[in-house]
Formats: sequence, structure tokens, C-alpha cells
Amino acid sequence: MRVAIIGAGPAGLFTGAGLARRGHEVIAVERDPGPAADGNWPRRGVMQFHHAHGFRFQVEQALAQELPDALQRWLAAGAEPFRLRLPDGSEIPMGMRSRRQTFERALRDSALNVPGLQLRQGHAEAVTDQRGRSFGPGMDDVTGRRGRGSGPGVDGVTGRRGRAAGLLVDGVELEADLVIDASGRAGRATRSLRPAPVSGGPCGIAYVDRQYQLRPGAEPGPLLNPLAWQADLDGYQTIVFMQERGVFSVLVARPVNDPVLAQLRHQVAFEAAARAIPGLADWIDPARALPITSVLPGGPLLNAYRGQTGSDGRLALPGLVFVGDAVATTTPTFGRGVAITLLQAQQLLRLIDEHGTDVEAIGESFDGWCAEQIKPWVEDHVHMDEATRRRWAGQDVDLSQPLSSDLILAAAETDPAMRPAIGGYLSMTALPSSLRVLEPGARALYATGWRPRVAPGPTRDELAGIIQAALRTSPSAAA
Ligand SMILES: Cc1cc2nc3c(=O)[nH]c(=O)nc-3n(C[C@H](O)[C@H](O)[C@H](O)COP(=O)(O)OP(=O)(O)OC[C@H]3O[C@@H](n4cnc5c(N)ncnc54)[C@H](O)[C@@H]3O)c2cc1C
Repeated sequence: MRVAIIGAGPAGLFTGAGLARRGHEVIAVERDPGPAADGNWPRRGVMQFHHAHGFRFQVEQALAQELPDALQRWLAAGAEPFRLRLPDGSEIPMGMRSRRQTFERALRDSALNVPGLQLRQGHAEAVTDQRGRSFGPGMDDVTGRRGRGSGPGVDGVTGRRGRAAGLLVDGVELEADLVIDASGRAGRATRSLRPAPVSGGPCGIAYVDRQYQLRPGAEPGPLLNPLAWQADLDGYQTIVFMQERGVFSVLVARPVNDPVLAQLRHQVAFEAAARAIPGLADWIDPARALPITSVLPGGPLLNAYRGQTGSDGRLALPGLVFVGDAVATTTPTFGRGVAITLLQAQQLLRLIDEHGTDVEAIGESFDGWCAEQIKPWVEDHVHMDEATRRRWAGQDVDLSQPLSSDLILAAAETDPAMRPAIGGYLSMTALPSSLRVLEPGARALYATGWRPRVAPGPTRDELAGIIQAALRTSPSAAA
């Protein structure tokens, strides 16, 4: 088949490379120009590219199965696998320490070497079909966006006889038998074809983060597991993610509507706050580590699930399949996004193998699979983020509602008998529903008045005071 893909992020590159390896003729159109000659890669429009990432073992596994060269490149670039050692001496893969850009550069370099996959930047003059094909007779711009005006990249999807027929790129049609939308959570090219997310929306949580580099020979600060350290304080949360080669990211998450904590984006405020939080202060101690970036404010965080269907419940457009963040986005606190993306891409490849050119069957089967296997993760995050916001606002656990997964996990920490049942959820090898078996026990514990421990450190109000004091002593820093 001839396949056209919107976007060459993790979903587009992985799926495109997988299809090209199977003999399909693939073109991915990406609006981003890629890394500059000096190696710099601003990656505008994909704000998470510069933010902290944790990678689950599913990402390593997907690359090993589908694109082993990308895994080799990722490891060569410094990615560090971390393993859980079992009492019998065997090891279970847990994930990879790596910056997002280290991962994406490896994936991109590898995918670009796969014969049959072309990557084009979406400029009118750059995008020409290999055989010089352009608009065909009877073509409709089904997304209602024609020609220039949307910036470089794919403007829309074309259709004939009720099926996707290709991409519209700066007024030129790129014909295809199958169109894949891998344009991420902010993609607009096909927005008119699907309703607003069927689950989720903005989650009410925002964060800032900053990258540091351990000094040569310095030991990491406190860790909860080989990847991360986390503290849930009164009204906010802080996480440290280990990346590769001694680089780590420090992140502070807060309610989106807190104007004072929003000032953490200023370096002087961020540093004062980090110094005041026990544990975090150890990590950023100048004797241990030095900052290597400015403080990076994150964009609005989302939980969103959008299936393959339009508002009438039928495929938005047969022959057009959405994959990756274009289907499901989760808040990053559990580092699930890339794993969810590549699990989808692997399933899509299986279904294309199975159904061949029957594009309706591909879309429908994929939609059914995503509803069963992916949507529950989005719903899980919606529920957890609601519970987190309640806690941050000083409200008690709502025992009239099902407990959120993080509350069940916290309860399981108190009882060794409950712990075996949380492994599948934590490793994403079992769906969130696997935790429900623990709910009666957890609920009984909460009914006694027990609550998860709040980590020591400044409360939200105390942190706000620290931020305001830091900004008062250095007013120019907030300008
Ligand atoms: C703040 C933040 C932190 C995160 N942290 C983690 C983490 O720790 N671990 C984890 O696993 N996941 C994390 N994620 C999620 C993860 O980054 C995403 O799941 C992943 O990027 C999804 O890949 P994608 O290819 O579907 O989308 P994207 O990475 O968004 O790629 C989409 C691509 O499409 C291109 N595009 C869009 N529109 C067009 C167009 N019209 N024409 C041409 N090209 C177009 C874009 O330029 C982009 O290159 C995080 C997300 C956020 C927002």
C-alpha cells in the first residue's frame, strides 16, 4: 500500500518505519525541519520534547521487536536501561533513563535509514509526489481546509467516494491508500473530522522543570526507584527523573490556577523553592549538581481520549487512522505516554498485516482495541488527577466515590499482602481495573481515618511565601 502519515514524532516514525519494513511505500510529512546542522533542535509545537521524560520497558521492547537499530542507537547515545533484580538473580526490564531528545534523535536517525520511508517537510515546494501526481479528478478536501494559511505541514486530508485519498500539503495532494494521523495531541489537520475528546480534557495541573547535571563522580540524591524520586507535599508535588549520563530533571507540579506557584517559572523563585524542599535540596546542592537549562514552564496538561469515530459513531473517515497522542494523552506523572503510543503503533501494524487493504476493517478493529486497552489508562488519569486536585485543595478523600488508583497504591504500601496485586498496574502489563480487587481493603483502611503521609517540607502557603520573598529580593528576575 501507499501510506501517507501526518507527523513524524514517535508515533509517525515508528509506524512509518514498521510499514516500510513490511514493503509498504510510506511518506511522512512533518512540519518541523528537524535538527539544525549544529545539532540544535528547538522542536517548536512539541513542548514536551524539552521536558522531563521517563521511559517504560514497553518502549525498549517495542524498539527491540520492530526497529532494533533504533534501540542500538538509543543505547549508544547514552540511554541507560534499568532492571529489577529478583531474589533468584534474574532481572526484569523496568525502563530506560534518557532525555526525550536522546530517544527521539535515535528513533529519527534510525527510521530515516529504513528503505521505503520518506520524510518530507511540509512546504509546498518540497512536497512532490514521487511520480509527480497531484490533485485527481473528483477530489474533495474533506477537512475543509484548502491550500495555504495553516503554516507548513499537512493542511488536511483529501477524500474520494467517502474514503481518505491522501494528504493536502500546501495545495498539493499526496495520494495514498491509507492515511495515518500521527500529529500528536495538538494536531489540527483533521480536527474537524472528530468530536472533542470523549474522555478527559485539561487536568487542572501544571508544572515547571529544569535539567541538572551531576558533577563528575557525584552520587545521585535520594531515589524511590532507579528512575525517580517523588514527594507529595501539602498542596503540590515534586518529582526528580533520572535521565542518562548523570542528567536529571527536577519538576514541581501545582494546581493550574495558582498564580503564586506559577511564579516558579522564574529561576530565582524555583531555586529558592527547591532549596526549601527536603530531598530536593539534596539533589540540587551545587556541590552535587549544576543546572544545564533554564527553568522550563510546561504547557497545559491534558488527559484526552479520542477514538477513530466521528460524532455519528462511525469511522471519522474510512482509510484514515489516528495513532499515538492523536488518540490518547495522559498527564506525564506516571511516564506512560510514549509506551501508550508505541503499544498502539504495534497494534496498528499487526492489524494492517492482518487486514491488508481493507482499510475499514483496520480502522474499526483498531478503534475497538484502543477502547479496550488504551482508553482505561486515560480514564485512570482523569480520576487520579481529580483526586490530586481535591487533596491539594485541602479536601478529604471522598469515600462515596470509587477510590483513585494512587489512593489504592498508597494503601497497598501499608500491607505487604496487597502488594503483589499492584505489580501489573505499575508495570502497565495489567489494566487499571486490576487494582479494583484491592479496593475493599483500601476503603476499609481509609474508613479508619488513615491517610497517605504528606511529605515533610513547606506547605503550599509556606512555599508561596518563599517564592514571594525570593522575587522581592530579586524583582528584576520576575520582569
Ligand atoms: C509535558 C509532557 C511530559 C511528558 N512526559 C512523558 C514521560 O515522562 N514519559 C512518556 O512516556 N511520555 C511522556 N509524555 C507523553 C509523550 O511525550 C507523548 O505520548 C508522545 O510525544 C506522543 O508521540 P506522538 O508521535 O503521538 O505525538 P508528538 O510527539 O506530539 O508528535 C506529533 C508530530 O506531528 C507533527 N505535526 C503536527 N501537526 C502536523 C501537521 N499538520 N503537519 C505535519 N506535521 C504535523 C508535530 O510537529 C510532531 O512532530 C509527556 C507529554 C507531555 C506533554
